[in-house]
Amino acid sequence: MIDYRSDTFTKPSPGMLEAMFKAEVGDDVYGEDPTVNRLEKMLAEMFGMESAIFCPSGTMTNQIAIKCHTVPGDEVICDHMSHVYIYEGGGIALNSASSVRAVLGDNGRLTAEQVADSINPDDIHKPRTSLISLENTANRGGGSCYNLTELKNIREVCFKNNLALHLDGARLFNAIVAKNEKPEEYGQIFDSISICLSKGLGTPIGSVLLGTKDLIKRARRIRKVFGGGMRQAGYLAAAGIYALENNIARLEEDHEHARLIAAALAKKDFVAVILPVETNIIIFEVSGRIHPVEFVEKMRENEIRVTAISKTQVRIVLHLDVTKEMVSKTIKVIEQL
Ligand SMILES: *Cc1c(COP(=O)(O)O)cnc(C)c1O
Repeated sequence: MIDYRSDTFTKPSPGMLEAMFKAEVGDDVYGEDPTVNRLEKMLAEMFGMESAIFCPSGTMTNQIAIKCHTVPGDEVICDHMSHVYIYEGGGIALNSASSVRAVLGDNGRLTAEQVADSINPDDIHKPRTSLISLENTANRGGGSCYNLTELKNIREVCFKNNLALHLDGARLFNAIVAKNEKPEEYGQIFDSISICLSKGLGTPIGSVLLGTKDLIKRARRIRKVFGGGMRQAGYLAAAGIYALENNIARLEEDHEHARLIAAALAKKDFVAVILPVETNIIIFEVSGRIHPVEFVEKMRENEIRVTAISKTQVRIVLHLDVTKEMVSKTIKVIEQL
């Protein structure tokens, strides 16, 4: 099977497993796991941020960040298809007792003007806007990337209105590689950044939240309450260190593979719209002669797995367990449909 359902389907490589086996560990709840401490320090330094905390999932790092930036009754502004809003089980309401202003962005991206227009006035009828949460790359936007200039403009709006700015950077390294940016540029803009190690970077488990010393200190308390305090987590952190050292630059291969498959899809009469392919995700509409569910089935008969994400859309995600040969096979299968 060639699995394009998600970049979470990657399995640790032999080199990564070896790094995990060799990890020096301790009790991380006591702050005594040297490998977790090294991973946290490594990422914080990379982004020029003060501190970091290793967590089991990206949902947890996002939810902890939102809880740090809000008090009950507040409102969070985000795109209407944000992971924090549609894929985290209503966590903003459940964990932070906050409401959401869901904004219709451009393939998952908000403009500074949209953000400014969505901030509630100081009016007792309205929830207090306290946080803006952005996603880069935007999953449901087809892996779309922000422009740094727009992010800086949004930062300005946050300064002026005394709002916190969080980044769900589950696939931030895909954006950084695709747009040839530097991690520090993001560290300067955001109050907190969540990074997934278990997506394109290929680790089995783990996400990291970055922020100021004070924010991460509060995050440690919330992580414990959420049940995310882990003990000898260094075995997992070692996979993260290995991924940061070996799997970042190669993300460009995934992007190239995505462009090749998208080009093959573009030639088919049953493919209507393909969202611009900027990174490792292809989202396209299937209509006419073939129904999306039928497309998924036909691919599956050829040992290729893809997902129908809505009544009309199919998603293909590239990752490090998909080889050049697998991409060639996939293109041949598409050509024959
Ligand atoms: C995968 C993902 C997350 C985190 O998901 P977990 O499965 O909880 O690690 C957060 N945001 C986006 C955009 C994602 O794609």
